[in-house]
Amino acid sequence: MIHWECPACGGNDAIQRVGAVVGSQTSDTSGMALTYVGGDHGILGVAPSVYGGVNASRLAQRLSPYTMRPGNIHPFWIYSSWLLGSVGCAMWLNNRFSPHVGDGLMTTFLWMAAGIPIAGLTVFLLHLMHEFEQRHARRLWHTQWAYLNDCYYCFRDDIVFDVTHHGRPEDFVPHVFSLSYEEMGYEE
Ligand SMILES: [Zn+2]
Repeated sequence: MIHWECPACGGNDAIQRVGAVVGSQTSDTSGMALTYVGGDHGILGVAPSVYGGVNASRLAQRLSPYTMRPGNIHPFWIYSSWLLGSVGCAMWLNNRFSPHVGDGLMTTFLWMAAGIPIAGLTVFLLHLMHEFEQRHARRLWHTQWAYLNDCYYCFRDDIVFDVTHHGRPEDFVPHVFSLSYEEMGYEE
């Protein structure tokens, strides 16, 4: 059992596990759904997520991964598949009901609505493919995230630390996501 104390102030009265800090400052701690978290995080897919949501505090966000999880779908693909789905539906509708379906605003809304299931299916399939392709990088990312959650944060000094390193969240978090299994003390 390691005795944790802050490398800056030498105390342990103001420190807390990163995972606990993030958990206590994030109101929506998990969701088993296609969770959109915005920014560069992409679509998380069917997995618990504890970061990046609108309910996460500034501190929780600073202590969360800054990089997209490997295998996540970038929001770009959602919009482009929605657009393509809408165009596809528009062509199909025009073909089937022409000339009853015109160019009105209502028709545009109809196309866009009809494009949603197509976009949803496309994104879902892309997600499965992408996740499979990057499963090794994804596993490492999850290990790094777990490692980060086991580090400690000192509220007095605004630093995160493990046994050997410490730094501001902005420096320490990217550092953790550059570690190998070996550097984190894991086999393989
Ligand atoms: Zn301290």
